[in-house]
Amino acid sequence: MRRMLPLLCAAALLSGCAARSEPTIQTFFAMDTTMSVTAYAEDPTDALVAAQQAVNRLDALWSRTRPDSDIARLNAAAGTGAVAVDGDTAALLTTANAVAEESGLAFNPVLCPVMDAWGFGSTESETTAVHRVPAQAELDELLPLTRDLPLVDGDTAALALPGQAVDLGGIAKGAAARYVVDALTQNGVERAIIALGGNITALGVRPDGHPFRVYVRDPRGEGEDYLCLIALPDGRTCSTSGGYERCFVADGVTYHHIIDPANGYPAQSGLLSVTVVADDPALADAWSTALFVLGPDEALRRWKSGQGTVAGMDLILVTDAGHVYVTQGLEEGLETLGEEAGYTYEIVRR
Ligand code: ADP
Ligand code: MG
Repeated sequence: MRRMLPLLCAAALLSGCAARSEPTIQTFFAMDTTMSVTAYAEDPTDALVAAQQAVNRLDALWSRTRPDSDIARLNAAAGTGAVAVDGDTAALLTTANAVAEESGLAFNPVLCPVMDAWGFGSTESETTAVHRVPAQAELDELLPLTRDLPLVDGDTAALALPGQAVDLGGIAKGAAARYVVDALTQNGVERAIIALGGNITALGVRPDGHPFRVYVRDPRGEGEDYLCLIALPDGRTCSTSGGYERCFVADGVTYHHIIDPANGYPAQSGLLSVTVVADDPALADAWSTALFVLGPDEALRRWKSGQGTVAGMDLILVTDAGHVYVTQGLEEGLETLGEEAGYTYEIVRR
């Protein structure tokens, strides 16, 4: 989103481009957000075109708003039977279901009717969306539609109940990073920083041989205030979810766009933002949303347990009180930047 541009410029600057190749930055709009690919290569033109085409293809498959997309057809057929979908769509739905199950539905790919009730659905662009606080009775009617996950069978998918709808907004951008990496490497680019909304993926290392570094935004600050700087090793993705991303104010209360599927209200788990660093970009994206819903205690419990998907990731959890938990894998290369803004930092070890 809006925060990505400064972040990206920062990433480009920090990459300290060695003499041989100035980076080439391709910025485009897809999946309802600003994306950019910063490539370090002699002539990355073809690779950048291929990367953008790959994202556009996925957007055409996964968009809710394009009537002929896989997801729009799946939603239109809710309660009536299965539709044929692309193998990439089936794979993404399968991944989304796996995160949903492991997170106890904190990440919920069928939350769409509830999102729409708040005006956070992606059917309208952010500028025209009508945000409102739904009545409890309305939420009570919609929540039962969010309990059954999509059924995926080979290259078909189905939603059991009429009125159910899938929205992959919390995972699609992360998932797309894998395809961008493939498009770049197949076209000869070995070093790049890929920023797809709140997800940043490092391909290779900086020209000087050190890992790329990325800024994590201060969730209480303006767009150009930063919480910290972290190293992002080759192949890893850093995804951030925060309540500040999209929100509205009604009667003096701020409502944000990450919804707790347990009650249909914006998640109040004690966190301002969650950053996940992981090898799998789709999982980084989906788990940043899931952990934002689950809250700091449950996030740290899962990480410390040494078992399950979260244990294999690194986390930065920013609590409402301004305490920042950073798991040990991020300690090397960490530069804290928010002390003056009142943040306190703690390295969490296992
Ligand atoms: P963003 O897409 O704003 O970068 P996230 O990756 O955290 O941030 O995803 C938030 C998006 O995910 C929302 O805009 C909405 O489409 C969807 N969403 C909100 N709450 C949930 C949830 N509990 N589970 C799955 N998706 C959610
Ligand atoms: Mg996410």
